Amino acid sequence: MVEAGTKSLPAPLVQCIEELKKLQGIGHKSAQRILYGLLARGPEAFESLAQSLQAVPRLIERCPECRSFREAGQPCALCQDERRDRSSLCVVESASDLSLIEATGEFRGLYHVLGGLLSPARGVRPQDLGLDDLPARLEAKGVSEVILATPPTAEGEATASYIASMIGSPTVKVSRIGFGIPVGSDLQYSDSQTLSRALTGRRDYK
Ligand SMILES: [Zn+2]
Repeated sequence: MVEAGTKSLPAPLVQCIEELKKLQGIGHKSAQRILYGLLARGPEAFESLAQSLQAVPRLIERCPECRSFREAGQPCALCQDERRDRSSLCVVESASDLSLIEATGEFRGLYHVLGGLLSPARGVRPQDLGLDDLPARLEAKGVSEVILATPPTAEGEATASYIASMIGSPTVKVSRIGFGIPVGSDLQYSDSQTLSRALTGRRDYK
């Protein structure tokens, strides 16, 4: 829907605003602010933004191990870092949730980025989330604790429950981040302190 107040704008600006509004967390007002900010900086501002964005799909790839993003052809900064604790692995919905957990500084282990949540309704199956390879990876790495950090939503809980049931190894402890995060909400809406407490307050998952 085109907002009131855009009628007087030239069509190319309206189109840009509509594109910006597709980005997460950007509403109509923010989209306008971004666009006018760019216009104030001049044509170079548009070019450097467009170039950086265009390069991303070429220069970034998914790490086959943790499924997070890495620079194409380069070792994964997380999986290859010898200083990280290989005994624990944290399962997150997205690479952006991974960044949030990294920012807390509470977790120094390995990750598994699902890239979604299980949903029979939307046709998302365990193999779409890289879960078929997970037990082998846990064994190969000698992981002794898996922390389930999927969000406290219906799909997040169902995914956590599925992963816990598929691990089924008595030598691997499964825990769930303890929540200060409101039920039904996304990790993205939690501040770093809340997330930090949720990690330290993790509980055994039954
Ligand atoms: Zn990796």
